[in-house]
Amino acid sequence: MCEGVALQRRGLALDGMKPIALRIDVDTYRGTREGVPRLLDILAREGIRATFFLSVGPDNMGRHLWRLLKPKFLMKMLRSNAASLYGWDILFAGTAWPGRQMGKGLAPVMRRIVEAGHEVGLHAWDHHAWQAWSGHWDVERQYHEIKRGVDVLEQIIGERITCSAVPGWRGNQATVDAKERFGFRYNSDCRGGRMFRPLLTDGTIGTPQIPVDLPTFDEVIGRETDAANFNGYILEKLRSSALGIYTIHAEVEGILMASEFSALIHSMRQNGMDFVPQSALLPDDLSTLPTGHLTTGPLPGREGWVGRGL
Ligand SMILES: [Zn+2]
Repeated sequence: MCEGVALQRRGLALDGMKPIALRIDVDTYRGTREGVPRLLDILAREGIRATFFLSVGPDNMGRHLWRLLKPKFLMKMLRSNAASLYGWDILFAGTAWPGRQMGKGLAPVMRRIVEAGHEVGLHAWDHHAWQAWSGHWDVERQYHEIKRGVDVLEQIIGERITCSAVPGWRGNQATVDAKERFGFRYNSDCRGGRMFRPLLTDGTIGTPQIPVDLPTFDEVIGRETDAANFNGYILEKLRSSALGIYTIHAEVEGILMASEFSALIHSMRQNGMDFVPQSALLPDDLSTLPTGHLTTGPLPGREGWVGRGL
């Protein structure tokens, strides 16, 4: 069955429109508190259902940003004006005081996402720790980190978690093995151009991976385009994208770039694009997906490594 028919069977009228899965990563306390409500308003106005990946543990993102303060990152910060992008409170979060527990303080905001009909999955327990250390963690350590986040998020939203996406696409073979025990419907832990079923260490086939094929705002600003021309740039990428999975951040598109993002959504509609949660892109018959290894490697515009799909 072709993808379009599969989508229509799930009650998503396409009318020849190109389906784009809008994925929203939420990394910080401020992003959840301010960015998420703003994005919920924009999406409600447009009648759009999206996928939110939430962080629920301590917000130590400031510590992460400073740890990465090496020349290349400093250049990127200056180019993208990160201080105004993230806000000084985010840059300093967790540097001089312990990070605030996001799940504790912001549970009502997280529940609003579910009540609005969006798909919700786990991003991280501790976003900073995962981005910094997951490459050194074995399967057990990754499993416990994910379990901690899943338990808290399930308690908050009162439903089983069915999907997840590691911070910064820092997914590797240990991630594939660790996540298998949760029985999720899919994971989104890597970059790549097509959905696939990753191979576990024991050679069996794991939970489907839905990679992200489009760049994020911070990956291309100052490198391929600038803030003023970003919407035109990404629209062109969306048009030619085969998979059509676009990631935004509550901290960026939900706060500083909110009006620009709202305009982008309008342009996307005018260009014949429709919006679906990520899970709607999965085929009915998962065995039709190719199998292969989730590997790791560099990605232009990002520091360090990311998980790579097929
Ligand atoms: Zn993130």
